[in-house]
Amino acid sequence: MINLTGGRPGGSREPPYSMGMPAPAELVRDFVNTLDVECDTDELASPAELALWLRERGLAGPLDRATDDDLATALALREALRAALRTHHDQALPVLPLRVVVDPLPRLVPVESGVRGALAVIAAAVADASWDRLKVCAEITCQWAFIDVSKNRSRSWCSMRVCGNRTKTRAYRARKQGSRRLQASNTDTV
Ligand SMILES: [Zn+2]
Repeated sequence: MINLTGGRPGGSREPPYSMGMPAPAELVRDFVNTLDVECDTDELASPAELALWLRERGLAGPLDRATDDDLATALALREALRAALRTHHDQALPVLPLRVVVDPLPRLVPVESGVRGALAVIAAAVADASWDRLKVCAEITCQWAFIDVSKNRSRSWCSMRVCGNRTKTRAYRARKQGSRRLQASNTDTV
């Protein structure tokens, strides 16, 4: 199966997911990024697109179809994950068919197959996704999910060049405006 996510190819030290399935952190990141907040484009705009997205990642079979309910569940899961990544606080995830399997370590596996099972795989990936490295961009108009590979896990933006500079330029303008105001009030009092 083709790896469409740009993630590491198979054969590396990864959990025993089926071939072509992205590593948990990448799966969560890519799923959250199906909505581009900035451009307002949504890869999951219909049940058919949801099924296709899951199929392309080896999470659903060629005959699996998504319903409107599945799409609603997917979007609720996606936004709960985005909110959890943004705040690193508890978020209620939609109820998905998972059970604990111990072999020898406990892990969550879907009870059903099909689209709901595939969404359950994404929800379960959270447990194994190096959560402290998964973030969404601090620039509120962006909110792109990314994996922070910096040594001290201090990255705030998806890209320093774009969002980092944007935030800093805004802070600089605000400071400049503030000092201008200050100067103005200074001259007022002179
Ligand atoms: Zn960004």
